[in-house]
Amino acid sequence: MVRTEQLVKRFGSNLVLNGVDFTVDRGQTVVIIGPSGSGKTTLLRCINHLEKIDSGRIFIDGQMVGYREQNGKIVEDSEKNIARMRAQVGFVFQRFNLFAHMTALENIIEAPIHVLRQPKDEVIERARVLLDKVGLANKEDAYPHRLSGGQQQRVAIARALAMNPKLMLFDEATSALDPELVGEVLKVMRQLAEEGMTMVVVTHEMGFARDVADHVIFMDKAQIVEQGSPQQIFNEAQNERTRSFLSRVL
Ligand code: ATP
Repeated sequence: MVRTEQLVKRFGSNLVLNGVDFTVDRGQTVVIIGPSGSGKTTLLRCINHLEKIDSGRIFIDGQMVGYREQNGKIVEDSEKNIARMRAQVGFVFQRFNLFAHMTALENIIEAPIHVLRQPKDEVIERARVLLDKVGLANKEDAYPHRLSGGQQQRVAIARALAMNPKLMLFDEATSALDPELVGEVLKVMRQLAEEGMTMVVVTHEMGFARDVADHVIFMDKAQIVEQGSPQQIFNEAQNERTRSFLSRVL
């Protein structure tokens, strides 16, 4: 479903991704862990072309992301194709970024109506199902400022799901939340994983990584240092850097 080949990304002279290769199979939940600044967020942002890569390639469902071949050369893809690709990838940020002047329901229906041009009544019906799914059936008329952080993040997840994405990217979706609100968001993410959604999750929640991930990737200093099953990473890590990181966070 997702494949990256030798990704390189620099911000000025700062090499942030240094030859990153990884694969996510359909229905898998891949969790990326690693110290602050190791390039986890940048990797996620590159996957849906929010950041341009310096070299390497990314494929989603066999389609190159951000670029296409033209007369044997790789050229930048059109804005239209990039937007079409992005519409199929849900992105949940650390900060929920809900539209403040719209209710929970209005936030969810906005893109399906205006981007996908789906019929409003069908979109509203599906939005209500999604609100129910994230445990907020009674909050459809609430504006973001009347919702807790955990509730806002669950609306943000429902909003991403309303686009019927084939892939969901979570960038530290619980890091901005008060500790007592983290569990309700992780529960929704866990449920999605169990339903077979393909997910790439950057998180500092090691319990989630251990319990929910099919595959765990440990990044440090712009590279994938080690990857494997939760058992392999959390119980049998081979690399000293992985062991040292885990000893600090577990
Ligand atoms: P954290 O866990 O703290 O979010 P991370 O592993 O997600 O860290 P990134 O956010 O990907 O790491 O950042 C990797 C490096 O790239 C850092 O050195 C950061 O300062 C730098 N960086 C990230 N975004 C930008 C940007 N837009 N411009 C310049 N440098 C950036």
